[in-house]
Amino acid sequence: MPRAVRMTVCSGCIGDFPHKEMYLVSRYMDRGNPDPTNMYSTMYCAKCIKKDKEHYVDIIEKPKPPKKRKTTKKKNEKNSKKD
Ligand SMILES: [Zn+2]
Repeated sequence: MPRAVRMTVCSGCIGDFPHKEMYLVSRYMDRGNPDPTNMYSTMYCAKCIKKDKEHYVDIIEKPKPPKKRKTTKKKNEKNSKKD
């Protein structure tokens, strides 16, 4: 079974990207009338984060660095030898 990757549409280039690679940014509802109380958050891809800097206000959340496969750490570490 293929693993379902959650895809998200970038608000900048309208492309589909894996959700975990997206940036969450804040934007003004009305760019012609920037109002900090009238904002929304949306997703941007890494490319648009660099390219469309004037189109968003702030980065709320950056993608987390890719994790390596779970290394199943077994709890076999002995408590530091006492004595
Ligand atoms: Zn994009």
